[in-house]
Amino acid sequence: MINHFITSQLERWETARNNYEALKEVKVKEIDLNGTLYKVQFNPARIVSSGAKVDAKAISQRKCFLCAQNRPEVQEGIAWGGHYDILVNPFPIFPRHLTIPDSAHVDQRIKGRILAMMELTAELPDFTIFYNGPKCGASAPDHAHFQAGNKGFMPIEEQVKQKCMTLLDQQGEATLSLMDDAPRTTLVIHTKVLADGVTLFDRLYNRLPMKADDTEPMMNVLAMYDASTGWTVCIFPRIKHRPDCYYAEGDERLLSSPASVDLGGVFILPIEEDFNKINASLLASILEEICLSGEAIKQLYLK
Ligand SMILES: [Zn+2]
Repeated sequence: MINHFITSQLERWETARNNYEALKEVKVKEIDLNGTLYKVQFNPARIVSSGAKVDAKAISQRKCFLCAQNRPEVQEGIAWGGHYDILVNPFPIFPRHLTIPDSAHVDQRIKGRILAMMELTAELPDFTIFYNGPKCGASAPDHAHFQAGNKGFMPIEEQVKQKCMTLLDQQGEATLSLMDDAPRTTLVIHTKVLADGVTLFDRLYNRLPMKADDTEPMMNVLAMYDASTGWTVCIFPRIKHRPDCYYAEGDERLLSSPASVDLGGVFILPIEEDFNKINASLLASILEEICLSGEAIKQLYLK
């Protein structure tokens, strides 16, 4: 049903169709960072997100593109879960890319939504669902939403099955572990019982540090479901939204605005020069700068 919906939207919606066509031409290169694979994607259409102004003033001055009354007429939605709409994302990173806003214009928050996010993965088992915090890459921090991209695209989907893990917390048979993939910091919940996974997430949420002027601990979240293994939820705790190189001048500048997909191992760069320039050491320094360290995470669970 969802694939039929995407096909029918692309038949009717020229802007979206052109952007999905352009996606077939994007350049990709691979970087091995301490044994962890990243794909770097040069994707000029994503300048709308990477370059987006997300400060309160800019947000208050624009029409919210996730509110039903402001969406293009051609954009249709599938109602889901009582108060969400499943939409085709017209600025794709994935060959199949959805945006799933709340039907109401309410602030982007993960609190109270992890259950819906996990339920959605079970209904869209061919997709990985992701959440970008209001200061961690959401281009609409004022309108709650998830996104979804087809599986088989982000390297982390396989890495969570292969990498070493340090167990931090347990609830029933559900586990919360720290994955061995520094300088990225990935926490992984594995569970076959929805409620246990939610409990582990809520305990983590309550332990994560929060800055005085923030509304939630900074994070990106990816969730996926497999009928045989259950749910896998990856949480990337953050300490910074955009790295210093985003704002630098001249040669130092690199327009990287990392969000869930970047942390899932597909690093999006909308500028070709940046794509040519990026290497393992630049990637490592960006990850170190934006992620809460694995050591800090261990401290949270040891104390
Ligand atoms: Zn809105």
